[in-house]
Amino acid sequence: MLSSRIGGKSKRSGELLAQKLQNEGITNQDVLKAIAHSPRHIFLPEILAHKAYDNTALPIGQGQTISQPYIVAKMSELLIAGKRPCNILEIGTGSGYQTSILAQLTDKVFSVERIQSLQWQAKRCLRAMDLHNVAMKHGDGWQGWQSKGPFEAIIVTAAPASVPPALLSQLADGGRLIIPVGEKTQILKIITRNGDNFNEQQIEAVRFVPLVPGDLL
Ligand code: SAH
Repeated sequence: MLSSRIGGKSKRSGELLAQKLQNEGITNQDVLKAIAHSPRHIFLPEILAHKAYDNTALPIGQGQTISQPYIVAKMSELLIAGKRPCNILEIGTGSGYQTSILAQLTDKVFSVERIQSLQWQAKRCLRAMDLHNVAMKHGDGWQGWQSKGPFEAIIVTAAPASVPPALLSQLADGGRLIIPVGEKTQILKIITRNGDNFNEQQIEAVRFVPLVPGDLL
């Protein structure tokens, strides 16, 4: 049972990780609280659980990775800065760890993943954490999730070579999209919608797995 792996020890580890991220410049208290409360070890294969509270990306199988806690916190902070969004679309559920943080920061999260086995495992983790405000879709993130939009915030945790037009069109007016863009070199961007205008701001160089076009697994 996954829920039996959420113990008292992880609470202390989560708090220490949040402290570390605060020292590295994360300031949003809601984000730090969500990090402190999230048992990152349950999102990892058991053999890597001892590294769960290190500030590093780790493999989760299928050639994919759980994002580095700093980048999870940074993207979450950028997503909710100024105005807390009521709904968030996430592309690339992966382990579900980023999803669990978002679920603590908004009313409803919609998350799309192309590898079904990862999605099932992520679902189990969110259930073990008693988070029930996440809807998941096995689908191609390049298409977004049109029937559930528009979204006040969209976060993409895999890198496309260019911004998928469907994601721009599913962004609510005033909403923001956070996305790593590029192939060899990737830049994290925030795109804010103002009617038909999209304002772009570059944040920092990052490294994500590619947003794969096409076939689902
Ligand atoms: N936030 C996740 C990151 C997972 S890595 C975590 O911390 O665990 C990125 C994920 O994006 C992978 O699970 C990969 O399968 C998924 N992905 C890649 N291309 C995709 C696409 N076109 N549509 C949906 N998901 C995609």
